[in-house]
Amino acid sequence: MKFSWKTKGIVLTAPLSEEIDDVIKFIDEYLAPRGFNMIVMQVRYRYQFKHHPEVWGYDPLSFDDVKRLLAVCRKNNIKLVPKMNLIGHQSGFPNEPTDGILHGHNQVLADINDGLLRAYPSFDEQCDTKEILYSRSICLSSRGAKAVVCELLDELMDVFEADMIHIGCDEVFNAGLCPECSKKTRAELISSWINSLNEHVKKRGGVTLIWGDRLLSTEETGYNRWEASDNGSDSAIDMLSKDIVVCDWHYDKYEKYPSIDIFANKGFKIMVSPWRDMNNLEAFLDYAIKNDKGHINGILMTTWCGSGDLAKRLLYGEKGRWLHTEQIATTIEKIFELEN
Ligand SMILES: [Zn+2]
Repeated sequence: MKFSWKTKGIVLTAPLSEEIDDVIKFIDEYLAPRGFNMIVMQVRYRYQFKHHPEVWGYDPLSFDDVKRLLAVCRKNNIKLVPKMNLIGHQSGFPNEPTDGILHGHNQVLADINDGLLRAYPSFDEQCDTKEILYSRSICLSSRGAKAVVCELLDELMDVFEADMIHIGCDEVFNAGLCPECSKKTRAELISSWINSLNEHVKKRGGVTLIWGDRLLSTEETGYNRWEASDNGSDSAIDMLSKDIVVCDWHYDKYEKYPSIDIFANKGFKIMVSPWRDMNNLEAFLDYAIKNDKGHINGILMTTWCGSGDLAKRLLYGEKGRWLHTEQIATTIEKIFELEN
């Protein structure tokens, strides 16, 4: 299997402060020599925002931390793209010991709010509900929420000196519930919110990336309810601006990956995003290579473990702290065997 896409990217979480040196070394000595030319850095609220210090997440990156990460990327011709998680994933639980990431949960529970909803509980789509399934969402009718989010996007793009930003928007299960939002369809709500953020990003010359799962139907594609939507949000695909780049992620092995064809037919440029399972990665990439209509920009490998954890495993052979780190690391090692 060989792919000739220009972009070879990986999602890395913003490093913990004590692991920044390891991650810089990882970029310089591991990722760059293996041809990675894009890093999407999952920041969420883990940056010391000057305009909104009230939303700072756990162990936030400083201005100087970002400049150091940017310097090692520039030295190696790697595009560094900041990433937020917007709409969904506004709450969750950390790993023990924490790697700075809040994960969703498949039970109805009272969890921990991430930066935005901790600072502004009224921006929560279900602010009257203590226990929720999976993770909380931003109210898409809240003008205040959108205003703060746009200021956060601006500050991240400024400090990262970025002409691209990934705004997440995956696994949204709790949109369209409040009295104001329930006046519209989920597809209308999600598409108009993403389009307006995209317009904001475009005005400053930037490109917006999102995850693609809410634009796909479980029924039409056969994907599970994380990788596609079973609540009608999928018709947002016809309302979204075509200059948004869709990151099409799938983690299970399927016979076919119909989203590759659907996004091509709808006129979207995409990135192909596998994760830790080698069977999935091989089947997904194979399908994508064979069904590329010229709309695939490249691969965007996902990780979802601490970037320091991954760096120390791949650089020094240390055992990862998170249960999936080992599998993620071995799959990343295998990509290069596939490629060459
Ligand atoms: Zn709402």
